[in-house]
Amino acid sequence: MSKDKIVVIGAGFSGCTAAYLLSQKGYDVTVLEVEAHPGGGCWTRFHGEHPYTIGPRIFYSYNKDVYEHLDSFVKIRKFDTRTISYIEKDDCFYNYPLQYDDLPLMPDYEQIAKELQIAKEGELNFDNFEKYWLSAIGPSLYEKFVDDYSKKMWAIDSNEELSADFKWVNRGTPIRDGDSRLFGDQFQGYPFAITGYNDYFLKSLENSKVHYQTKVTRIDADKGFVEANNQSFEYDILINTGHTDEIFEFKHGELGYSGRTIIPVVLPSKFAFDNPDYFWAHYSGKQPYTRAVDFKKVTNNESETCLLTLEMLSDETRLYPKQTARDLKIFDRYKSEFPSNYYAIGRLGKFKYTGITDAIEQAMELSEELG
Ligand SMILES: Cc1cc2nc3c(=O)[nH]c(=O)nc-3n(C[C@H](O)[C@H](O)[C@H](O)COP(=O)(O)OP(=O)(O)OC[C@H]3O[C@@H](n4cnc5c(N)ncnc54)[C@H](O)[C@@H]3O)c2cc1C
Repeated sequence: MSKDKIVVIGAGFSGCTAAYLLSQKGYDVTVLEVEAHPGGGCWTRFHGEHPYTIGPRIFYSYNKDVYEHLDSFVKIRKFDTRTISYIEKDDCFYNYPLQYDDLPLMPDYEQIAKELQIAKEGELNFDNFEKYWLSAIGPSLYEKFVDDYSKKMWAIDSNEELSADFKWVNRGTPIRDGDSRLFGDQFQGYPFAITGYNDYFLKSLENSKVHYQTKVTRIDADKGFVEANNQSFEYDILINTGHTDEIFEFKHGELGYSGRTIIPVVLPSKFAFDNPDYFWAHYSGKQPYTRAVDFKKVTNNESETCLLTLEMLSDETRLYPKQTARDLKIFDRYKSEFPSNYYAIGRLGKFKYTGITDAIEQAMELSEELG
């Protein structure tokens, strides 16, 4: 007996993994992707001979099954990632996440030490993101490392808009003592292949029908079809990994996303940053970019020159689901009306700030659930 028809919206990590696992089980899988390629921002593109993605996309995970699954498609080169942050006020780069050892190097160390003592004696405030960070590290460090960076990163006017559950900076650890790696996860790295994760996406889709440049703009849940490019695609099961508001015709309003465009710059040196440990620099001030990435550190591309990318803020792309109280409320309204046989996975499908490992893991869990 033939299995159900599945339509997957979006061909990023979550959509491709779901398509692979479910087509292996005999489902009839169709994937609809608005772009001309799979992978979303994780698709490797080239500036001249230099490979890059939309922002560095390092794999990091505690999940051995996810790591082994990915590694069986694209062999992962393991490394630890370290980053720095440029603080304009001090005209200085410091380790990022914040390190106790760096604090005495700061010109306002005395004041910082006083504020940290007050923070230590006080209680953490969970009213919102800003209050959390002020109560955790005091105003001086907050202003240097968190305040402007977070507003820029999330394209918001006030950090009070973000919830305290979403601690985000330093992944919930205010100041580190010793371990200067950005990610503490057991498995971390990036594919050896110069085309990065591309083979993962292409191989995952081999047994599915894939339609590129096909944007889903409507779901008819009663009749069981989605509409894209004036065509209908019938389904028994619908898996959404794309922008939720678009496919529900914005009926509960537009969800907020923070977008980026990338400016690739080739430099006449082997690496952009001399220090072999530093992969990228965060810019915490009012510069129009959030990060400068030394991309060869990520891709290991062989070349006499190197590629630096600047991540500029942009309204043109919808990348980071904004974790503000307003947007989470809008998403909840959509969620309360998700139809039956509809499954939301991935970063856009669930409207959460999550990583590659989560996208793969959620697709694995869904495949188990569907049987
Ligand atoms: C700049 C940046 C840097 C990041 N760095 C890291 C990192 O270092 N490590 C890490 O683990 N994670 C990182 N992430 C997050 C990680 O890349 C994502 O969590 C992961 O790739 C999400 O995969 P996904 O399949 O859920 O979503 P996506 O990759 O976004 O895939 C969704 C797909 O759906 C398509 N789509 C959307 N709407 C529609 C529609 N209406 N119709 C048809 N198609 C549609 C999109 O084009 C896209 O291809 C980063 C994210 C960003 C933005």
